[in-house]
Amino acid sequence: MIKTENVTFKYSNHEGSDFFALKGINIEVKEGEFIAVLGHNGSGKSTFAKHLNALLLPFEGAVYISGMDTRDEKNLWNIRQTAGMVFQNPDNQIVATIVEEDVAFGPENLGVDPKDIRKRVDEALLTVDMFEYRKHSPHLLSGGQKQRIAIAGILAMKPRCIILDEPTAMLDPSGRKEVIETIKKLNKEENITIVLITHYMDEAVNADRIYVMEEGQVVMQGTPKEVFSKVEEIKAIGLDVPQVTELAHMLIDEGINLPSDILTVEEMVVELCRLK
Ligand code: ADP
Ligand code: MG
Repeated sequence: MIKTENVTFKYSNHEGSDFFALKGINIEVKEGEFIAVLGHNGSGKSTFAKHLNALLLPFEGAVYISGMDTRDEKNLWNIRQTAGMVFQNPDNQIVATIVEEDVAFGPENLGVDPKDIRKRVDEALLTVDMFEYRKHSPHLLSGGQKQRIAIAGILAMKPRCIILDEPTAMLDPSGRKEVIETIKKLNKEENITIVLITHYMDEAVNADRIYVMEEGQVVMQGTPKEVFSKVEEIKAIGLDVPQVTELAHMLIDEGINLPSDILTVEEMVVELCRLK
C-alpha cells in the first residue's frame, strides 16, 4: 500500500539555508495494516505524512502509494483518492455549513455521479456514527464529532488508506476515545489501511506496528510490545511508554515477577491475578 525508499526532504528558508526535515526514511505498509508513527515535536512526522498523498514530494528517494510514484504528476488524483488525509484541527477541514454537504464535498470534487454521492455520504455518516447529525451545522458539534465528520468526508471518497496526523491532539478525552474507536473500526471492519500519527502512547498500542521518528529518521520500529518493552530507549528519546507498561517495569524493578511487555490494563489484571 505504501512504500518509501530513502526519502529525504529539505525546507529552504529565505536566507537560502537548507534544513533537512527527513533524512532517508524507509517505510513499508501492507494493505489492511494499522501503523502508528510516534515522535516528539519537530521530529518530522507531519512532513512525512504530507509525502504520503503527494502534498510534498521527496527531495531525494521515492514514495509509492499502491505502486504509484508520487513524483509522477499523472498519478496525483489517483493518489489523493487512494490515500486520504485527516489533520489535527477539525475546524480547518470543515468547508460547508451543513454536515451532509461537508461530507459530499470530496466526492463532488472527484466528479462522482450525484446519485452515488447521496449513497456514499449516508454510508460514511453511518460508519462514523454521525448519521443523525446529517442536517446539523458542523460548527455547533463537539471536537470529537467534528473530527468524525472530517473522517466521513474522507471516507466518502472511498480511500484504501487514511493518514491521520495527530487527529486527537485538540480533543478532550471523550472526543479522543470516539475518534480512536472510529479509526479502529475502519481498520477492522472496512480493511482500510491506517497510518496514525500521534504523541499519545496509549493510542499507538492499538497499532500492528509502530515507527518511532527522531530528527527526521526512523530510530525504532516493531510491534507495540517490541517497542514499548524498550522503556529506557524510549525515554532516552524523550517519549513515554504507556502508563501500565511503566508501572509493570517499576514492579519488575522491585523484584515482582511480571512480563516486561504489558501494554494494557486488561493484561496487567490477568498477570496480577496469576501472581496471587
Ligand atoms: P512534527 O510533525 O513531528 O512536529 P514537522 O514535520 O512539522 O514535525 O517538522 C519537522 C521539522 O521541519 C521541524 O524542525 C520544523 O521546524 C521544520 N519545518 C516544518 N515545516 C517547515 C516549513 N514550512 N519551513 C521550514 N521548516 C519547517
Ligand atoms: Mg506535526
